[in-house]
Amino acid sequence: MKISNVTPYVAWIGFRNQLLVKVEAENGQFGWGESGLSGRELAVEGAVKHYREFLIGKDPRQIGGLWQEMYRSQYFEGGRVLTAAISAIDIALYDLVGKELGVPVHQLLGGSQRDRIECFASYPGETALKDYPALTLKLMNANWNSFRVNIVAPPEASYEGKEGGIFETRKAIENTSQAILACRETAGPTAMLGCDAHHRLSVAESATFLQRIPSGALDYIEEPIRDESPEAYEALRKLTDVPFAIGEEFSSKWAFKPYIERNILQYARVDVCNVGGLTESVKVAAMAESNYIDLLLHNPLGPICAAASVHLAAAVPNFSHLESRESPVEELPVADTDVFTKRLEMESNAYPTPNEPGLGVDVDEEVLKEMSIKLWEPPRLWKTDGSYQNW
Ligand SMILES: [Mg+2]
Repeated sequence: MKISNVTPYVAWIGFRNQLLVKVEAENGQFGWGESGLSGRELAVEGAVKHYREFLIGKDPRQIGGLWQEMYRSQYFEGGRVLTAAISAIDIALYDLVGKELGVPVHQLLGGSQRDRIECFASYPGETALKDYPALTLKLMNANWNSFRVNIVAPPEASYEGKEGGIFETRKAIENTSQAILACRETAGPTAMLGCDAHHRLSVAESATFLQRIPSGALDYIEEPIRDESPEAYEALRKLTDVPFAIGEEFSSKWAFKPYIERNILQYARVDVCNVGGLTESVKVAAMAESNYIDLLLHNPLGPICAAASVHLAAAVPNFSHLESRESPVEELPVADTDVFTKRLEMESNAYPTPNEPGLGVDVDEEVLKEMSIKLWEPPRLWKTDGSYQNW
């Protein structure tokens, strides 16, 4: 069995671009993967084209070996662009081999360990403080029990002379801490409640924010600060007892290594489309398992990312929840049904463990060929003094 083609497609689907990769074999079998580096798809597409040059003619069943060759072949190993490309190809190889063998992808990863893959819901980014209780009740009535607040400061006014909005840190801290209290009061003590700070704060601001929330009210804080420095997180740990959820930007097991070994993170936000595909994800999962850390999987993109995450979640023992952007309170158009003729479907707050061969997603390639990239920049935020602020 030999790889006969590797084709990247970048298409504006729903509310952002998706970079999908098709890997084909000489016998007609094929698989689909997705890359997760939103906003820099042209760079990832280029990397996929480089890999195509030596992947054609290789055995698609030797996934682990092909991962090593892709990661190490340019001498300059790693990095987010290359690993996002590897992720898409790696996922496509698993889909292809699963279909060829007639087994679901999770069976290639050791077999399913659970019947359902439970998801957490995010409150819409612009939610007004008064609306959190009603949204929480709406989710609870639909059997959801894990929720995540985003750090926001309404209204995010535009900044005169610059594209984007103003992030007023002190208002965001006050507004979001009040939102968390309102959600906890409505959801009760058994719901899982997290907050994504989208690495918008400093160590000191994170401490101020988290110290305003009673101990035990918040189950995790996701990325309060940027993640280049494990030492900064260790400093923050001395100032708060809230568990940390970190890792959606990590592009290898080596990025996770200090965070796991030094017990800095308590939930691993693995993104299967960025970390290096399923091959790398199961290794990170094993590293996390050794320190009793559960996966809280990052899944903001399309149905292929969701399906790959579901198969990963099924196959590992240490799984908490999968991110879903399709809850009753936030229906982002992540799936264009003209492109995805079949996808994994949720039953209330969970995906039933799939049993069909491969990932369980079908793509209409002819529709995809007619679509194109829409060059897009992530939103810009500014501090009140006009300096740059992470989105
Ligand atoms: Mg996040």
